[in-house]
Amino acid sequence: MKSGWVDADAKGVVAQGAKAGIGRDFALRLYTTRLLGRDPRLVLHGGGNTSLKECARDRFGEDAEVLRVKATGADMAAIDPQGFCAVRLDPMRKLRALDRIDDVELVAIERANLIDPAAPNPSVEMMLHAFLPHKFVDHTHATAVLSVIDQPDGEQKCADIFGRRLGFVPYLMPGFGLAKKAIEIFERDRPSDGLILSKHGIVTYGADAREAYERMIEMVSLAEDFIARNRKSFAVASRWRDPVPVAAAAPIVRGACSVKDEKTEGAWRRLVLEFRTSDAALAFFKAIDLPRVSHAGVATPDHTIRTKNWPLVLPHPEVGKLDDFARAAREAAGTFSAHYRNYFERHNARVGGIKRELDPLPRVVLVPGLGLFGLGRTKRDALIAADIAEQWIAVVADAERIGRFESISEADMFDCEYWPLEQAKLGATIELPLAGQIAVVTGAAGAIGAATAKAFAAAGAEIALLDVNPAAARAAAKAVGPTALPVECDVTDAASVRAAFDAVAENFGGVDIVVSNAGAAWQGRIGEVDEEVLRKSFELNFYGHQRVAQEAVKIMLAQGTGGCLLFNVSKQAVNPGLNFGPYGIPKAAALALMRQYALDYGADGIRANAVNADRIRSGLLTPDMIASRSKARGVSEKDYMSGNLLGREVTADDVAQAFLHQALELKTTACVTTVDGGNIAAAMR
Ligand SMILES: [Zn+2]
Repeated sequence: MKSGWVDADAKGVVAQGAKAGIGRDFALRLYTTRLLGRDPRLVLHGGGNTSLKECARDRFGEDAEVLRVKATGADMAAIDPQGFCAVRLDPMRKLRALDRIDDVELVAIERANLIDPAAPNPSVEMMLHAFLPHKFVDHTHATAVLSVIDQPDGEQKCADIFGRRLGFVPYLMPGFGLAKKAIEIFERDRPSDGLILSKHGIVTYGADAREAYERMIEMVSLAEDFIARNRKSFAVASRWRDPVPVAAAAPIVRGACSVKDEKTEGAWRRLVLEFRTSDAALAFFKAIDLPRVSHAGVATPDHTIRTKNWPLVLPHPEVGKLDDFARAAREAAGTFSAHYRNYFERHNARVGGIKRELDPLPRVVLVPGLGLFGLGRTKRDALIAADIAEQWIAVVADAERIGRFESISEADMFDCEYWPLEQAKLGATIELPLAGQIAVVTGAAGAIGAATAKAFAAAGAEIALLDVNPAAARAAAKAVGPTALPVECDVTDAASVRAAFDAVAENFGGVDIVVSNAGAAWQGRIGEVDEEVLRKSFELNFYGHQRVAQEAVKIMLAQGTGGCLLFNVSKQAVNPGLNFGPYGIPKAAALALMRQYALDYGADGIRANAVNADRIRSGLLTPDMIASRSKARGVSEKDYMSGNLLGREVTADDVAQAFLHQALELKTTACVTTVDGGNIAAAMR
């Protein structure tokens, strides 16, 4: 590992800081924190932390010695000045006289001593930074260091590698107790470069930013060299027999890792998936004693809140034996949940029954021959779980090549997983109504499609935006959010629809809701219209819906957790317009299609509903059309658009809200919601 320090960059950060009133030390603290944060071999997702001790002026204009320390959960890679909080150092140092302190009280004392009362909470490892006397302190959970210290003889290995340059602090839960132990060992051994925190990570310190940072790089490099010199190579593994495609395995894994919501009949607690694979992961599955290491535990304690303590291990899914895989996956997931509940009950009893159980679902699933899945209530959480799972594999693989991987005890893992200060890193958990659900919208770049995608994302769903125009799909996805997936899809082409749903299953793990919205209008007097026109319209406005629904149902059945099909049938389905047969007739057939799906798949928990909307500004009803039609009728454009019983213009957002309501109505199927401001001739009967 090489130092990423570049003089010109450091100078640039200092110059930039000066313009914003930030001193040289703090600017360089930001610079090296980012250097550490950008290397996943050192820190991942809010793990690790850094600090600086200096003088700062408080709100009363008085100078005070402060500890600037990373805020809890802040990501080091892109940290800005607001990612640090400044705490008065003197009162923090005085706390050392206490034998112990309650977590809630400690946070209250920290907050009372913030220079800026509105600053976020400091890192849970703040006290360690406060007690150490050095101006700059850096702390990471470096992969190579973890491979060396997650060992039964970690202390001996550290002595061999680092000599007296690093002190060795036995495992204690992060927080006040660990900070006291660390300073005790520092004062006893006076290590020159830093400390090892057993089964947890490494601390380096220095008089300036560069010294603390480059000591970290040097120590991690020593660990890497030790591993390179001492590791046994894995036995050359034979190749896996043909695995099934990810798109076929993922919905099975996702369904197995879902639980019924006991409070609401028909509701499920679902997770979103992120798939990863690599030669290293596949070799790991072959060479390592998976049953043993999968029960060993996390690589560093704070990963427990992202990945739980253990991954779920499934059998190798072979082509032609998907049913066997599905059976085994459900059984293994059931065993995992039962084991988790048992673990919770035993340890909750130990701590006096005061904890509330988190869901028992796995957050990492290892599938030999295929790869691994990270799982989360959101795609972002799934991505984080997958990143950490990949690091866990890297740590364990090297740990096993130089010895035997050993984590902290089950009780220690429980204490971290259920430590309120760890859970606080995940932020406020307001459950959105569609959290954990995956919604596919077709015709997603159009007015109604884009509005629907946004409405479903705001309700917590992950969104795949399918559109025949890939650039327009990308633009619409960008407007929805960073995890929205744009997919090119022509619903008149069965292969294109199949490929699009495969892409969705590979990316998110499955599908729960489909808004089949793609459509276009053709006109013609029905007795004279060219058959080709009618067929073209049927391809899009009827068969398009059928192809989409068919692919969706396949995935929903593989998941076994129900689902929701929503169709845009338009007013024409029930109230034909003059010379509008080529559009209205396939739409009427689409209405019948919706009812057929409701009937045929109700027993599987799959609901089917439709929205019957009218006169929405869109690609179908363009400004030119509005101008010519209103002119033809001799009314203003405004009166034309609001020519309904309520006298209100209906918008794409109104239609989006109707789809959203249908997605949430768990006891409603085979139903049509009318969104047209009132049109008695088109009223459903
Ligand atoms: Zn740590």
